[in-house]
Amino acid sequence: MTKLALLGGNPVRSEEFPAHNFIGDAEKKKVMEIMDSGVLSRFLGVWHDDFYGGDEVRAFEQEWAQSYQAKHGISVNSCTSGLYAAVGAAGVGPGDEVIVSPYTMAASVTAAVAFNAVPVFADIDPKNFCLSPASIRAKITERTKAIIVVHLFGHPADMDEIMDIAAAHNITVIEDCAQAPCATYKGRPVGTLGHMGVFSLNYHKHIHSGEGGIIVTNDDNLADRLALIRNHAEAVVNGREVDSLVNMVGFNFRLGELESGIARIQLSKAPGLVSRRRKNMDYFNRNLPEVAGLSISPAAGYVEHSYYAGVFNFKAAEAGISRDLLIKALHAELPETKMRKGHGPLIGGGYVKPVYLYPMFQKQIAYGELGCPFKCPHYKGEVNYSAGICPETEKAHATIITHEYMQPSLATSDIDDVLAAFEKVADNMDDLRQYESAS
Ligand SMILES: *Cc1c(COP(=O)(O)O)cnc(C)c1O
Repeated sequence: MTKLALLGGNPVRSEEFPAHNFIGDAEKKKVMEIMDSGVLSRFLGVWHDDFYGGDEVRAFEQEWAQSYQAKHGISVNSCTSGLYAAVGAAGVGPGDEVIVSPYTMAASVTAAVAFNAVPVFADIDPKNFCLSPASIRAKITERTKAIIVVHLFGHPADMDEIMDIAAAHNITVIEDCAQAPCATYKGRPVGTLGHMGVFSLNYHKHIHSGEGGIIVTNDDNLADRLALIRNHAEAVVNGREVDSLVNMVGFNFRLGELESGIARIQLSKAPGLVSRRRKNMDYFNRNLPEVAGLSISPAAGYVEHSYYAGVFNFKAAEAGISRDLLIKALHAELPETKMRKGHGPLIGGGYVKPVYLYPMFQKQIAYGELGCPFKCPHYKGEVNYSAGICPETEKAHATIITHEYMQPSLATSDIDDVLAAFEKVADNMDDLRQYESAS
């Protein structure tokens, strides 16, 4: 038995994992063509044909909408902007509540705050880490205007049940698909299962254009409102004779021609990149050695997962060591990934902490110093952001382990090294138990 690197032995691997780079010649060529045209954005914030942007923007929107079987695609400069636009388009405002997930990147919560609504946190289902329909049902009030569902880690939420609840209460459902491009639910792509679906093209995601995002919808009215909010609606509603002025306030969420051109090529690569993730994940899961206390969190039979992250459930009591120590031991065996230097090995405990524990919610300060929107006089409900309000989320955060050892840049031999690190740790559990009880 070889000694653990954490305890002074040699690591399983020291050579960095290959760069996670999938920007290639096609993107470069496209960018040079656009550069040569001199038109890097053709948007105009006045009522004109160019209100809807340039050729690359429009081609990107059409191609994306088609690939998600959606009627409309509205590009934006980030998924965050897209979520804000979606909440605005839904007509959410002061006094309203938006049901959100606490286990997500903060933008899927702050989108509600951006329109002066109050986020109400429902709990997750520990099976898929997405909002649980039962918890949503328990949080609905007469003030609930929208639900922002997050397909976390690439696993779709229980959309049929969520849409039934929403229909019964006339609530708009926004899907945050940032982590789930190409994921499917009962054979249907995510994005149009709800009323609007928002994707990210940020560089940490499955495909990217540096920064960027896109919203899909089958609803003509929502598509119109999204395009208005994206581009200085307040300045154009006059010429357009738009009926509803609600939330037609000045944003610039426009995506440029360069990013749109890159995004078109990335879109064409998405199925291949995601299928590579699935193959890598499958290989990893099939060959994972037994580690005390550790189990893979399986995907539901009716979804195609897109694996933004892989997830383990970890029971420290069964393992006889803490989650922190297990991760520390694995980190010591494994190097970093090129292009992600300083980020550490691609495995860690939990995800982000439950969003309601962020200072903004704990102190209830967002707009100005008067506590709006939480203490807004139009708001007739009562907020509760105490620790403990979403026990499943807090438990998951304290017990799961997430990793990215399915990145498309990884060859089988790279994954074998990761598996060897797990095996080595499994073989040396007793040393770790001793080490922990001695420290
Ligand atoms: C990355 C991410 C976002 C934000 O995407 P940006 O394009 O960086 O604004 C929103 N929600 C989730 C779940 C994400 O993972």
